[in-house]
Amino acid sequence: MHWLNQAPMATPETQTPIPVFDVQLEEKHVEAVAATLRSGWLTMGPRIQEFEAEFAEHIGAPHAIAVSSCTSALHLAYLAAGIGPGDEVIVPGITFVASAAAVRYCGGTPVLAEVAGQHDLGLDPEDVAAKIGPKTKAVCAVHYGGYAAPLEPLRALCEEHGLALIEDAAHSPEATPVGSDRKLGTIGLAGTFSFFSNKILSCGEGGLLATSSDEVAELARSRRSHSMTSGTWDRHRGHAMGYDVVDVGYNYRMDEPRAALLSARLPDLAADIAQRRALTHRYRELLGEIDGIVLPYEDEEVDVSSCYVMPVMIENPELRDPVRKILSEQHKVQTSVLYPSISEFTAYGAGRDELPRCERAARTQLTLPLYPHLGEERLLRVVGALRASLAAAA
Ligand SMILES: *Cc1c(COP(=O)(O)O)cnc(C)c1O
Repeated sequence: MHWLNQAPMATPETQTPIPVFDVQLEEKHVEAVAATLRSGWLTMGPRIQEFEAEFAEHIGAPHAIAVSSCTSALHLAYLAAGIGPGDEVIVPGITFVASAAAVRYCGGTPVLAEVAGQHDLGLDPEDVAAKIGPKTKAVCAVHYGGYAAPLEPLRALCEEHGLALIEDAAHSPEATPVGSDRKLGTIGLAGTFSFFSNKILSCGEGGLLATSSDEVAELARSRRSHSMTSGTWDRHRGHAMGYDVVDVGYNYRMDEPRAALLSARLPDLAADIAQRRALTHRYRELLGEIDGIVLPYEDEEVDVSSCYVMPVMIENPELRDPVRKILSEQHKVQTSVLYPSISEFTAYGAGRDELPRCERAARTQLTLPLYPHLGEERLLRVVGALRASLAAAA
């Protein structure tokens, strides 16, 4: 037969693709959404309130306000920090663009600061200090990949200069700083979380603002729904007849099926993250033996991280893109880059501010596949593929 004449099957091309991220919902999750749809109440109802209470309890925050995305949560957080036209917010160059864009929604200007370096992609407090000026109103600490930004020095700087500290905790539900029980996203004036489909706790599109400030919570709740003095659910229950509109608000609401999905998934979050940590330790053990790469962060940081991604820095920036191409084409291993530096985006004045450490990170970083059900076999294939791709590209 024809296939007997072909080369042995072991060529990598025949292997199943390994995605950089994968979501696996269980029947109980699907059922929670179906039950919500059957209930006929699709938005701003009891499931939002339930999820908010559960998430607040889970992370230990007095208030949790579910919204349409982490981007809208960031917008509300900056508004709560009083950001308006002419104000500046210091944002790391290595983050998703939303951390900076939401400053501009308020009419403010994001001022980009450096990350620590190849070993740590969190904000560098020294560069933040150097960038504080008369217009600075807030600092946005991004917990890159689920690893805590240096909150202690950032908090001290913010206190000294009267600035608000906002935590972009999009990657880091459940995570803490090393040596602390306090969950990330509950330490600054407000913490913002993302439930976008490729985040750790996902529902498709969704976000949340956590805070211990009653005023911030009230502002976020109000602006989330057009700054109306009563909501649909209040009116449905006969708690209110009409409403006033007290400011310019937004439609940043989350709907009920998403809240139900999040509530159904939240009890599994700790176990998912435990898997991610175990896989991350295994990756680090195996990758540590490969020359030409740097593994950011320390093992003790992995133990308290949410391990959103598995970051690897390729020492020689010229090899990064060829390595990604070989991984993808010959080994069917998908990778991504977290992130391009915002300082190089057209809309953010490409090249105006120089952030050599961010730009180096943007040229050397790649993210390996990581999700709770990745498993040892696929992990070994990824490590082998990376080793082979580095050798082939060199
Ligand atoms: C994903 C992400 C956001 C935006 O989240 P959305 O829910 O998609 O709006 C903001 N900041 C960081 C660091 C992110 O990774």
